[in-house]
Amino acid sequence: MIIFGTRNKLKTVGTGQFYCPRCQAQRTYERKTAKRYFALYFVPLIPMGDLGEFVECTTCHMTYNVDVLKTKAPVQQVGAVELLNSVKSRLVGGDPVEYVVRDLTAAGIERDMALSLVQSTIGDKRKLCATCNLSYATDITRCQECQLPLPESA
Ligand SMILES: [Zn+2]
Ligand SMILES: [Zn+2]
Repeated sequence: MIIFGTRNKLKTVGTGQFYCPRCQAQRTYERKTAKRYFALYFVPLIPMGDLGEFVECTTCHMTYNVDVLKTKAPVQQVGAVELLNSVKSRLVGGDPVEYVVRDLTAAGIERDMALSLVQSTIGDKRKLCATCNLSYATDITRCQECQLPLPESA
């Protein structure tokens, strides 16, 4: 008996970060193409056509149309407390204020809002790296970029 039929073959063509609507968080995705093959004894032999591309969340394994990659994380999905905590832990951990603000604005937060978030976590005082022009929370002793000790007063 000859067994034949069609099989779908998946190929991962790319990977990256996206906002998964199901996880409601930034996740890693795999972009895959599906092709239909004519198969003999379950061995895919002859390509029979494209089934198209899709995106799969590697966390929840939900699949989406590739358009999902254009979806931006809705800002209101991030809880204010969560946001404050992440800002604080980054600044206390030695990330420059400029980088934190840049990431916040990239996530869709107004610059003024980002700056006041920073201020509400570490206050007004900053230490400034004269070499990189980056500013840090006053507890930070070394510049993350150039690894030079930060001056005592800013
Ligand atoms: Zn997901
Ligand atoms: Zn520096």
